[in-house]
Amino acid sequence: MLLRINDHIVNEASFHPSPHKDARPVADDISLLVIHGISLPAGDFGGNHVDDLFMGCLDCAAHSSFAPLEGLRVSAHCFIRRNGALIQYVPFQQRAWHAGESVWAGRERCNDFSIGVELEGTDIAPYTEQQYETLVQLSCALMKAYPQITLDRVVGHEHIAPGRKTDPGPAFNWDMFKQRLSAAVMGLVNENGSQK
Ligand SMILES: [Zn+2]
Repeated sequence: MLLRINDHIVNEASFHPSPHKDARPVADDISLLVIHGISLPAGDFGGNHVDDLFMGCLDCAAHSSFAPLEGLRVSAHCFIRRNGALIQYVPFQQRAWHAGESVWAGRERCNDFSIGVELEGTDIAPYTEQQYETLVQLSCALMKAYPQITLDRVVGHEHIAPGRKTDPGPAFNWDMFKQRLSAAVMGLVNENGSQK
């Protein structure tokens, strides 16, 4: 499915407006795409805890591993579930709070100038074909809407916070993803291709 972005929102996404956002220091500086992996509890897929976390209503008593999340205010622009379903939490022109302490190409505070996309997963469980398909279409749409995001400026959380973050981890197939993304960007994917 081709995704369209209008007024900083993906038309085809479910929109859940997160309270965890604010203005970018430079409104039109959107020049990095950061891929993440998350699941709560880790390795449990399909539940609502990640959604609750981004919406600011996670019950931290619901699982013993949630204690460190108490009071944590985080979000991502988008979340892609295991079945490829896309949820958007923050309009792209606003700053989501996904990267934390981070640096890319010598520049700190990547939240200021990046878009954050979370994949439901762990560092070691292979991400699903449906997730790659949605991620390729989303990334392609973002690169068209925000041309400062070039192929070499699509990175993982682990790359902008090395030693502190490991997601999306070795389970994420960067070679395959970048190959499919560059093909999509060049318009080489026709309607009989891998799109459903
Ligand atoms: Zn992350």
